[in-house]
Amino acid sequence: MKLLFLGSPGVGKGTYAQVLMEVLEIPHISTGDLLREEAKRDTPLGNEIKKVMEKGELVDDHVMLKLLENRITEDDCKNGFILDGFPRNLVQAGYLKKLVDITHVLNFKADDKIIIQRLSGRITCRKCSAIYNKVGNKPKVEGVCDKCGTELFQRKDDKPESVKKRLEVYKEKTKPLIDYYSDEGLLVEVVINKNISEIKDKLVSQIKAFLEGKIDEIEEIK
Ligand code: ADP
Ligand code: ZN
Repeated sequence: MKLLFLGSPGVGKGTYAQVLMEVLEIPHISTGDLLREEAKRDTPLGNEIKKVMEKGELVDDHVMLKLLENRITEDDCKNGFILDGFPRNLVQAGYLKKLVDITHVLNFKADDKIIIQRLSGRITCRKCSAIYNKVGNKPKVEGVCDKCGTELFQRKDDKPESVKKRLEVYKEKTKPLIDYYSDEGLLVEVVINKNISEIKDKLVSQIKAFLEGKIDEIEEIK
């Protein structure tokens, strides 16, 4: 199963990817995480990446592709993966097509109001990148990662100025991918307007049934 997750920043795709990678036993490749790793290094490339990300803009296609190619050709990706955050424009989609055959594209959707709320409430683990939210997906102990006990923080690009830019970039560059993958016959919609804690189990079993070909659509859980 070579899955691709599409959707606006803040929609919740990364959170679901982290759940589904365990259920489906395939790795989760988040290009945001790959870039944040690279940005931690004090190298010219790392510093450049950091600047671009903080502004909410897209990192250069060639840099991104190189990082992705290195990751996706590792052994654990042989039987499949969840790709989250790539492609982000049509040029990247063209590169990806040459690199691997994606089997399903899940397009995650939520109302604009909810997206803004998710973005401004998101908190992330410094160490393992686990994602939480101040609304609807809180850690058990405030400010501490359930999985590894590390301190949680708000990403710099989750502050209001960068959020606005990221949503603009999404509308302009990433949204056209929905038509692209729909034309390829790979797209299915996943609507997630409810908090993860309320619908996770039901939604995950629907997604699983869909991927196994048992149902044709993923119904919204209300
Ligand atoms: P979100 O999707 O919630 O905005 P990510 O962690 O996926 O968060 O991405 C954070 C940032 O990393 C983006 O705003 C962008 O600067 C950069 N980025 C991630 N994926 C790509 C990509 N495929 N191409 C270019 N830049 C990317
Ligand atoms: Zn953690």
